[in-house]
Amino acid sequence: MPATTDIAERLADAEARYAAANPESRRLHEQRTRFLPGGNTRTTIHQPPFPLTIVHGEGARLTDADGHEYVDFLGEYTAGIYGHSHPVILEAIRDALADGFVLGAPNRYEGLLAEAICSRFPAIDLVRFCNSGTEANLLALSLARAVTGRPGVLAFAGAYHGGILLFSDGVSPLNPPFEWLLGEYNDAGGAARLVAEHAGELAAVIVEPLQGAAGVIPGDPAFLSALREATAAHDVPLVFDEVMTARLAPGGAQELLGIRPDLTTLAKFVGGGLAFGAFGGRADLMSRFDPARPDALQHGGTFNQDVLTMAAGTAGLTRVLTAAAIGRLNGLGNRLRDRLNAFAADRGVDFCSTGSGSLVGLHFTRGPVRSAADLPDAAELRGLLHLHMLDRGYSYGRRGFIALSLPLGEAEIDGFAAAVEEFLS
Ligand code: PMP
Repeated sequence: MPATTDIAERLADAEARYAAANPESRRLHEQRTRFLPGGNTRTTIHQPPFPLTIVHGEGARLTDADGHEYVDFLGEYTAGIYGHSHPVILEAIRDALADGFVLGAPNRYEGLLAEAICSRFPAIDLVRFCNSGTEANLLALSLARAVTGRPGVLAFAGAYHGGILLFSDGVSPLNPPFEWLLGEYNDAGGAARLVAEHAGELAAVIVEPLQGAAGVIPGDPAFLSALREATAAHDVPLVFDEVMTARLAPGGAQELLGIRPDLTTLAKFVGGGLAFGAFGGRADLMSRFDPARPDALQHGGTFNQDVLTMAAGTAGLTRVLTAAAIGRLNGLGNRLRDRLNAFAADRGVDFCSTGSGSLVGLHFTRGPVRSAADLPDAAELRGLLHLHMLDRGYSYGRRGFIALSLPLGEAEIDGFAAAVEEFLS
């Protein structure tokens, strides 16, 4: 590896070239800074010196405000599984649009999307919709707290369960004031002990079967099984946050693991690429939302069953995202990860690719990466690789995050891998 000062200098050079090549993105960023803090309303997509403004997307191609084209390996942090402007999704939205929206009543699509979800996820007896993954997790945890009457929630260090449910650096001061307990990801014995010791105060345990934002870190089947056993033994609802991992199999990571959580949360692509969240699970828990019950819990939400989202989500799940399509996409991710890991091992570079199927992480360490604590603070190298890849025409998440989308094929995967290998060389 080059010396640190060398990396800092190279990064400064690369940023200067980036700024010179993107005057219109810079101008738009500066315009935004007058009205949005730091020009930003979504921290995840901020990047120094300024992010690219994207003006067009088609298939797996993005175009920025200065007219550069990129192959999209970010896939909108998993929400963009269909790629941009998929004809089936577009048709569904246009058809729904033709009948009008903001109708203020149940529509003909919401039951279809609920059926599609419940039939894919056997652990979801009943489901409710909302507007984001954040909201889905808040509602699942709040339901568990209401039903159990207990205040606490066990989550895992590094987890991202939403804009106000994040644990990348302890418990975020923005998180709701639940009694949070933080365990170590992939520590099966430790997690089982925490559940046993705190069972009397725990309303729920929430876990990502693969930690996405933390670094695309797969959960050990033994860790997740231990959580299932401990929570079942102590009657603590287990929430699987499958907002990202639902794409790993038709029935999500829980299908691959053979684990049945009590509640599951979904979002992102399940809404066809429009604003969406869902939470569902055991009938005895979810039926508390049945408005006809005398002890019904209320859950409103103007856009919970937004007609465009319901139509787009239904079309995607029932007409595009077949088992074969999911299998092919996850195979492409394995191809990318295996190739990069073989290259890094062969060259003896401090680099590895983590993840599962179509969720891929890029890291400047040889690994193994079992939790966020195993990742080095390599912000400058990450920045340098990111700018190198943009220069070669590939976009992905600067922290080393890749979510593949359906329009990608082997040629794009191999081109991306070759560009990373060029950098590592
Ligand atoms: N859970 C996980 C695992 C996520 O990755 C995210 C978003 N990146 C969320 C929840 C929150 O979803 P949303 O951005 O729709 O609120």
